[in-house]
Amino acid sequence: GRTAAAASGILAAAYVGLFLWREWTSRRSFKVASGVDGLVGETAMVRIASLSEITQCEIYGKLEMCNPGGSAKDRVALAVVVEAERIGRLRPGHPDWVVEGTSGSTGISLAVLCRSRGYVAHIVVPDDTSAEKVALLEALGAVVHKVRPAGIADSGHYVNVARRLAQEVNDDPSNDTLAVFADQFETPVNWRAHYTTTGPEIWRQANGQLDAFVTGAGTGGTVAGVSRFLKENLPHVQVVVADPPGSGIYNRIKFGVMFDTAEREGKRRRHQVDTLVEGIGLNRVTANLAEALPYIDDAERVSDADSLAMAHHLVKHDGLFVGSSSAVNCVATYRLAKRLGPGHTLVTILCDSGSRHLSKFWAAELQDTELLLDLK
Ligand code: PMP
Repeated sequence: GRTAAAASGILAAAYVGLFLWREWTSRRSFKVASGVDGLVGETAMVRIASLSEITQCEIYGKLEMCNPGGSAKDRVALAVVVEAERIGRLRPGHPDWVVEGTSGSTGISLAVLCRSRGYVAHIVVPDDTSAEKVALLEALGAVVHKVRPAGIADSGHYVNVARRLAQEVNDDPSNDTLAVFADQFETPVNWRAHYTTTGPEIWRQANGQLDAFVTGAGTGGTVAGVSRFLKENLPHVQVVVADPPGSGIYNRIKFGVMFDTAEREGKRRRHQVDTLVEGIGLNRVTANLAEALPYIDDAERVSDADSLAMAHHLVKHDGLFVGSSSAVNCVATYRLAKRLGPGHTLVTILCDSGSRHLSKFWAAELQDTELLLDLK
């Protein structure tokens, strides 16, 4: 009598619990975002099967290309806008400006986020930026300002021009517009966005069990925020920076000195570094990279030929169509997995899609590399 009643009570409670749990989880996974902003972050993670099988490790890619603006920079753009609103530097409902100097994904993310929140993105780019990128920024409603390429110490460098443009708008008493300089290289809002979102997501998706995190650094924001979060929770995690040719980060990590290769040789830097790869590599210690340095254990140099071979490998074997910086990340992750040996879990970032790189990286001719042979 009494035991049977208790048992059926427990059973009923379990059914109700299960029902509520399934309702809640299904609602979460089928939720409707209230706008583009609501789609930023919470990106999927994919097991890169081919690399996992060759190395007998678990190799996961965080699909940052699935953000609505196509890259991890959406997280930073959203955080910059939200922070500016919080301190009253952007006013919802006013067509205030967000200004940035960038030829990369940050401009695209800012353009998208500004459109969704009613602001105007002003993006300063070097005038050798590809026509496609300028067209994309303009299609997204950004005002594009082209300047002559110059070194970062030069007042004509696009970052300095952007800073000045924002200052001039704010100083001009004849207009009612506020302008925010996004300042992705120096602002702590950048690494904090990764510390509060990307890092915890990776931690949860890997079930708190990972041995290494590998990524490149363009501003240093991703590596700073993610590795700080991971190391606070898993002190043994190895953090490795993947670095393209011409970037000084590898030397900074390996030898403690950042050789400013391009500028020392008096070369005009067309992009950040002289490589097929876009979006990563640095020849100065930005505030975001400085934040990352205490957490970085090692660096891996990756040639253009190897990145290209990896990109072709990934599309052929895994159906993953990635951009150049993601390919660099995967080469470095693959090499680290081979060094660590079977049974380890490694996470890297798939920053953006190959479709952003069709005219340069994906148009380059594939060469035979050791990496390519090794991956067969
Ligand atoms: N990949 C791509 C395509 C990028 O545009 C960037 C940022 N410039 C990065 C990687 C590097 O990210 P972070 O700036 O956080 O170092």
